[in-house]
Amino acid sequence: MLKITRCPSCGSGKIKTVRRNWIGSFKGKRYTVPCLRYYECPDCGEKVYDRDAMREIEGHSPAFEQTHPKRKSA
Ligand SMILES: [Zn+2]
Repeated sequence: MLKITRCPSCGSGKIKTVRRNWIGSFKGKRYTVPCLRYYECPDCGEKVYDRDAMREIEGHSPAFEQTHPKRKSA
């Protein structure tokens, strides 16, 4: 698990993990990642995602749909 104590954007030490529904968009299509855990800086609003968070996002994003092929019975 990635450990971040300083905001990479503004250097604030107040950055902390949050867990909330994360809304992204891809080609105008919105999608939600429920209860995503990521780092958020209260000072500048920077968001940092660790590998698990990235994987969660990828799992929900239409942009990565081809990496999660839907099972088709031919
Ligand atoms: Zn910051």
